[in-house]
Amino acid sequence: MTANKKLLVLPGDGIGPEVMREVRRVVDWMSRRRSVSFQVEEGLVGGAALDAEGTPCSDETVERAKAADAVLFGSVGGPKWDGLPFDRRPELGILRLRQELGLFANLRPATVLDPLVSASSLKPEVVRGLDLMIVRESTGGIYFGEPRGIETGADGKRRGIDTEVYTEDEIVRVARVAFELARGRSGKLTSIDKANVMQSGRLWRAVVGEVGKAEFPDVQLSNMYADNCAMQLASNPRQFDVILAGNLFGDLLSDLAAALTGSLGMLPSATLGAPDAAGRRHALYEPIHGSAPDIAGKGIANPCAQILSFAMLLRWSFGMEEDARLIEQAVEKVLAGGLRTADIMAAGTARVGTSVMGEAILRELDKLAA
Ligand code: NAD
Repeated sequence: MTANKKLLVLPGDGIGPEVMREVRRVVDWMSRRRSVSFQVEEGLVGGAALDAEGTPCSDETVERAKAADAVLFGSVGGPKWDGLPFDRRPELGILRLRQELGLFANLRPATVLDPLVSASSLKPEVVRGLDLMIVRESTGGIYFGEPRGIETGADGKRRGIDTEVYTEDEIVRVARVAFELARGRSGKLTSIDKANVMQSGRLWRAVVGEVGKAEFPDVQLSNMYADNCAMQLASNPRQFDVILAGNLFGDLLSDLAAALTGSLGMLPSATLGAPDAAGRRHALYEPIHGSAPDIAGKGIANPCAQILSFAMLLRWSFGMEEDARLIEQAVEKVLAGGLRTADIMAAGTARVGTSVMGEAILRELDKLAA
């Protein structure tokens, strides 16, 4: 049995706890069958934490997250808390964790599994086999740059201000994550900017190029303007393997890429911090979907994105590639066998709820590991 791996599990609100229950079964399965043990702690975040602790993410939760090897996050928010002032919103729970843990690199895969190719809005021949990864810088850029705000001028008219700013160090550290990823995949990286019209974009392009030349000469780097990338994603997405973008462009392009797959309930994500001297890094894994209040409590949510987030956790935080692949294969096999939750239903498939989907994945895991 390998040493304990410490996980902090934060199910959050809405469907978060429902889909996390299925992940806990996968974690238990791993402990039983794969000679690895996890020490799992659970905590509150988002609306659940607001109700119980008066804050969307308590100091204690932040400390526990820092002490953990990895954080598995559900989703936060819902109509119950919609009327609260901005500084008490459940969504601040995830923002605080990202800031406190220094999670600057958001990894969002957009994958089209063969059984779900018809869920895409694009033609099957354009999207079949799509497997791309977007690396989005997530703690800098225009969402955080100063000055920002709304001010009223002497003429009584208001002005809204946001500032896009990137330092060299911020670009270097996220570029390294993207280059490393590309090196482990097809060796191709596309870096996105608007160097034609933005000074921060000029710096972005220059610094990414320097990192590539100095540290990753084996990776083929190309640069693309963000507007062109949006067009290319919508028309010929398979030309990409790893895409690197700043916060704003990464936000838009990763949503577009996710929409191409047509399956919000299927997509995981990871957000990583910088490695320390021992190579240990803070990391948080979560599905890209929200708390889906419209279906919460009905037992029909798709648990796959949350389960695949756990697979990403195994790969990125523990280097457990084989186990991560096992989970991904189990999910794919269940879908190929024709079981579907409501969000990914197609003609000729059988509709199942959250826990039956979870059980089916466990059964496939049993078969694959036999
Ligand atoms: P959402 O992702 O929660 O839901 C969008 C649609 O997709 C809904 O119809 C929902 O039923 C469906 N859906 C989402 N996940 C699904 C799943 N696993 N299985 C089946 N169907 C699924 O987005 P929204 O409705 O815009 O937001 C709802 C709440 O979630 C809001 O309070 C929002 O702020 C919050 N939110 C949180 C996060 C996060 O926690 N990181 C991310 C996005 C939205």
